[in-house]
Amino acid sequence: MAITAESPITVIPGVGAVKSAAYAKLGVLTLGDLIQHYPRVYENRGEITPLSDAPEGVKRAFLLTVGTAAKAVRLRSHKSFLKFRAFDESGSCEIVFFNQDFLQKVFTVGSVFRFYGKVERSGKKLSLSAPAFEPWIEGVALPPLYPVYRLTDGLSQKQIAKDVKTALDLLSTEVDDPLPTDLLVKRNLCTLPYAERNIHAPETAEALMAARRRLVYDEFFCFALGSATVCRNRRQSGAHPCPIDPMPRLLPALPFRLTDAQTRAIGEILSDMKKDIPMNRILVGDVGSGKTVCAAAAMLAAVLSGRQAALMAPTEILARQHYADLSELFGKFGISCGLLIGATPAGEKKKIRAALTDPDPARRLPIVIGTHALLSDGVEFYAPGLIVTDEQHRFGARQRAALAEKNAHAHVLVMSATPIPRSLALVLYGDLDVSRIDGMPPGRSRVDTYVVDESYRARVDDFIRRLTDEGGQVYIVCPAIEETPPDEEGVTLSEIGESLFGGDAEENEAQKPPLHAAVDYCKELRERMPDRTVAFLHGKMKSAEKDTVMREFADGKIQILVSTTVIEVGVNVPNACLMLVENAERFGLSQLHQLRGRVGRGSRKSYCILVAGGEGGIGETSRRRLDVMRSTYDGFSIAEQDLAARGPGDFLALSGNGAIRQSGGLAFRLADAGEDSDLLVTATGDAKNLLAADPELASAPLLRERVERMFTLEEGIAN
Ligand code: ADP
Ligand code: MG
Repeated sequence: MAITAESPITVIPGVGAVKSAAYAKLGVLTLGDLIQHYPRVYENRGEITPLSDAPEGVKRAFLLTVGTAAKAVRLRSHKSFLKFRAFDESGSCEIVFFNQDFLQKVFTVGSVFRFYGKVERSGKKLSLSAPAFEPWIEGVALPPLYPVYRLTDGLSQKQIAKDVKTALDLLSTEVDDPLPTDLLVKRNLCTLPYAERNIHAPETAEALMAARRRLVYDEFFCFALGSATVCRNRRQSGAHPCPIDPMPRLLPALPFRLTDAQTRAIGEILSDMKKDIPMNRILVGDVGSGKTVCAAAAMLAAVLSGRQAALMAPTEILARQHYADLSELFGKFGISCGLLIGATPAGEKKKIRAALTDPDPARRLPIVIGTHALLSDGVEFYAPGLIVTDEQHRFGARQRAALAEKNAHAHVLVMSATPIPRSLALVLYGDLDVSRIDGMPPGRSRVDTYVVDESYRARVDDFIRRLTDEGGQVYIVCPAIEETPPDEEGVTLSEIGESLFGGDAEENEAQKPPLHAAVDYCKELRERMPDRTVAFLHGKMKSAEKDTVMREFADGKIQILVSTTVIEVGVNVPNACLMLVENAERFGLSQLHQLRGRVGRGSRKSYCILVAGGEGGIGETSRRRLDVMRSTYDGFSIAEQDLAARGPGDFLALSGNGAIRQSGGLAFRLADAGEDSDLLVTATGDAKNLLAADPELASAPLLRERVERMFTLEEGIAN
């Protein structure tokens, strides 16, 4: 049988049952999987450090000449080590290997090697223990960058690198590029074989960047093709119409009058749901604009029409909140709701699952609200009608897609609080119809916004004390701390890119105030305000821990919540009345707007304070940008200004590429929707054009296969 990307990795000589079992743990089953097991980071062995400059505890490359004969020292218990000295112009060090006596012959006096490892110092003595090494031959270049792979027991870096190379050799007969040639030329992309080789074993840093660019383009391009196709298939598969108008019952049950924007959005939703084509709609509206009631109208339409509805929220705390609000509302109509989250006891989950599939309409559970537990617990519906996902975004959409896939005939409504400029909505939600709620429900008082600098610190502290004395609560947001230790294992692709192409890092550096590292910040704050309860929330916490902290904050047990980013999008704590953002110049305006939306949700007069800059203050541009926040309160208008000033990156990052990483999404292995936003926009446009010309991709069969493979993988995630 011919060897293809689908062939099992056991076709690689030396990969048998044991190794393939280890590979399976990494999700690598086929040659294609192995090739897509891209390096996590790269060891920068091309840059040689003089011994005298060797930093301690950090891996570096050294070019050293063997100075003394390698001596093997035998220990008891069959152990041994090998020791010799080596030097460069700046100094010398001792090199040690354990239980590898055979190396004695390799390190002959006078020979030169490139070593890579951590130098340790004791007093003036330097030593390198068990470094990686390669013989240095004048005139023969050694590869500058070495891949570092995600590993599992039973596999080594060397093994993977070797197997990847074999896989690439085995497949090297597949020379055709899946991308149409005119696109390769137009977008200045390297070929796939070149990209695949250089992402694993880069010839140069430039080659690596070209490889990455090509592969990222591929990921976006295939994603766009695939989601458009899935969407088209869904349209063709038909849906159960939900024609009953819920408004005559809903309106009298609401404690408020709907705004015009809400009425319009609900109208669009209900008219979709009447049809026998599945609805694919996104409802976009600022935080607090009142999206939930629109979802409730849709859910009620489904239930009154004899179908079931599900609402999926991204966190347990949000699911609980929706459950509390909606079961109260639907209780008025005698419609019951179930709550299904990770914390739901197994027995209860079982009951809910059974009630959802009950053929008897009288006993069937019409509505379930939950987290992605709805997916992982294999929930099925007897009569699926509507699936709502809250605060989901285009690229966190994998779970929504999975839920919709399982319920092919259900209508789908997505709700998002990210005000996306129109031009970008096309890229992000190309396959969805968009409804917008602009404007806020009446009676909201504005969140007074101030931009201050460090000299206001004492006054800001006093303000926090005053508000908390009055019973209010405070959010403090600091920019995310750099949580990876510097250079522990290698350099990331984006660092390589920055060093190659400069980026604007240098330019910004001058303006960058010192970061308020959130941890220290929190400690200092506690010292300054020992009689206040201060809690700290950061991205690395387990979601159960995060939920606990958020719940305590919601319950008023915590007065001041310090967090690194917007962790709980959409959580409603009406008692919170101050949003303080440190290093506000680091955030996009839309992000700041979202943060500001956390307060002003209750009866308390609310404030947003943007602390800009450290001692040095900030530049004129940043100042002007932040000033927009004082004068503008409409998310869409802020979004347009932000897009004009900073480009699309922030939005695409906001739209949750983190979510795919979290959900273990396999679709994007390299791409980062935020950082690679330009490519995302181009690739999405190209995909659209191609589909318009050739809807079935008949002209590009290899491409079609690739897209299918990507989207089959996705199904795997749901299960
Ligand atoms: P979001 O769009 O952020 O999900 P919600 O649906 O949670 O917003 O609504 C925010 C708050 O506004 C809720 O307390 C809700 O009851 C209230 N609300 C929604 N619509 C109206 C309205 N038309 N008039 C007054 N209050 C409203
Ligand atoms: Mg909401």
